[in-house]
Amino acid sequence: MPEPTLLVWRSELGWPAESPADYANPKKGLVVHYDSSDRGLHKKDHEACIEYWNWCRRFHTGPSRRWTDIGYSWFACAHGHVLEGRGLFRYQAAQGTTPGNRDYYSVTLGSGPNDPIPDAQIEAVRELRAWLMEPASSISGKVLGHRDFTSTSCPGTKAYRLVRDGTFAKKPGSLIVSPPSKPKPAPDAGTVPGPKHPWPLPSGHYFGPKSGPDRSVSGWYRRAFKGRTDRQWLQEFGTQLRRRGWSVGKGRTYLRAFGNDGIYGDEYRSLITAFQRDQGLPRTGLLDERTWDQAFTKPIT
Ligand SMILES: [Zn+2]
Ligand SMILES: [Zn+2]
Repeated sequence: MPEPTLLVWRSELGWPAESPADYANPKKGLVVHYDSSDRGLHKKDHEACIEYWNWCRRFHTGPSRRWTDIGYSWFACAHGHVLEGRGLFRYQAAQGTTPGNRDYYSVTLGSGPNDPIPDAQIEAVRELRAWLMEPASSISGKVLGHRDFTSTSCPGTKAYRLVRDGTFAKKPGSLIVSPPSKPKPAPDAGTVPGPKHPWPLPSGHYFGPKSGPDRSVSGWYRRAFKGRTDRQWLQEFGTQLRRRGWSVGKGRTYLRAFGNDGIYGDEYRSLITAFQRDQGLPRTGLLDERTWDQAFTKPIT
């Protein structure tokens, strides 16, 4: 299992890339948390989750807590994104005991007792668990709830049931997940907006990281293809998804920090992966010919 499909690093939120919290190497498993108040994030756009996560960090580091950083390792949101908190290899302020904070990773659902737990959110927890079980972090597959450590209602009746019955500990990929942040209501369903740009790169090339081989076109070197630069073509793709109703651009759900600048990085990878997931394509995060063609020729559903 590679990284969770829709992983958002803290640097993408404008936070320092490394958490200032102490080093730890949790191995024993993953602990599920919730928020004691209903937040209704499942009814809102994913932007509300990012706002909530920023608020958590301010609250945890502010006068009422004065912690060194946001308390949790991760946030698995109702739209299926995994947002980094303290991230890998850090002590947490979450489980309420020193061994708990040192030996387990924490993931919050950011929801309250009456908020539903959508399939996309369950899938995000499963992807996170499977990824953390890989050699680099190699945690055990055990999933617990906060109340297994201290006397607390957390993670709420609903989530704790999913902890106990093994739902969170299943392999990812078995749920039919509704696509995240799908345009709603779909603008112009049944039509294809925008110009019909054919694939601009040579066959076998793709838009991908600058660390890739020659056929991985990153936008970094301003290479020219069919009368435009690579950067302009990647921007054209971002614009096309916006025409299709996706929340794309600076401060929006996708390409939030850097905007549609045409330089391939984590933000384009998240956008491309989300579109591939929506279209039932292999989720590579690389913009290949097939993904491009779906964006420019397939009617909106
Ligand atoms: Zn908790
Ligand atoms: Zn979300």
